[in-house]
Amino acid sequence: MPDFNITAIVLRRMQYGETDNILTLYSRERGRISAIAKGARKAVSRLSGATELLCRSKFSLASAKTLQIVRQAEVVASYPALREDLTRLANGLYAADLLSAFVTDDDPNPDLFDLLDAALNLISVVKAPSLAARWYEIRLLDELGYAPILTECIFCRAALSPARPGIIALSASQGGVLCHRHCDPQRFDDQSALSRPSLQLLQRLSDLKTLPDLFDNGILENREFDDRQTAYALRRYIRFRTDHDLKSLQFLDTLRIASLRNQTMGVRLPH
Ligand SMILES: [Zn+2]
Repeated sequence: MPDFNITAIVLRRMQYGETDNILTLYSRERGRISAIAKGARKAVSRLSGATELLCRSKFSLASAKTLQIVRQAEVVASYPALREDLTRLANGLYAADLLSAFVTDDDPNPDLFDLLDAALNLISVVKAPSLAARWYEIRLLDELGYAPILTECIFCRAALSPARPGIIALSASQGGVLCHRHCDPQRFDDQSALSRPSLQLLQRLSDLKTLPDLFDNGILENREFDDRQTAYALRRYIRFRTDHDLKSLQFLDTLRIASLRNQTMGVRLPH
């Protein structure tokens, strides 16, 4: 049984038997892989740290027919700030879940690995982790060839300026934004209304390709921006391209509702 080495991020972890975990990994070298970490739940296991959810670790795996077997694992980055804040953690889990929904096993794409790594770093440190998640969604859609057209109406090709008045909408099925003359959120199930500031946010996020762009721009430090509308529109856009709902979205929604409830009672949860 030959061993091989990979660097991978732990997308999912499921308990198996008394002390084992089954891991879903996304590796730079081989794409998505399932592996079993035997004994990882024992208190003294040397695998426990490196096989935590959302850790980036070096793995030595033994080839097997169905599940690979983790021989050794060593943490490279654990994104510790993710684990200290429920909202950051929920956005990080969503980022991992979203990647897993779009990829198949043993189909490597180093750019997607680097994008998830960048997203987890961003979600860990920026003041507005939800905006970091929006940036990740747009970049991921771009890498996969599903980027929404945001600069012109997909029906009439009229340029869409954030300065012009009138409601517009993002169409999930048609792959982009419809101008105020051609959108009809009442009529079509797949359209999500966007205000001009929401369109501007999406356009700005889609222009920012790299991490230095994002940090220099300062857009992710803006905590005042209400991104619920863009989150909803992108969620519907993505749902049209995946064949199932993502469980991690339920966690995000639960936190959002709890946060709103506590704000109205004068208690602020971490943003
Ligand atoms: Zn139009």
